[in-house]
Amino acid sequence: MILIKAAFLFLAFMIGIAIWGRFRKPPRRLTQRDKFCPSCGRPRIGKGPCPCGRRA
Ligand SMILES: [Zn+2]
Repeated sequence: MILIKAAFLFLAFMIGIAIWGRFRKPPRRLTQRDKFCPSCGRPRIGKGPCPCGRRA
């Protein structure tokens, strides 16, 4: 009986992690896209503007 409860809790934990991962993955991809300059395509260094001088 304890094993069944443990397995159920483990499954619920795994589902929670899966849902959390789904919510977490898209923002990461968006931030990766934002790191690249849309005008020249070069990766931005830090949070400052792109060295190409164009505004994003
Ligand atoms: Zn640029």
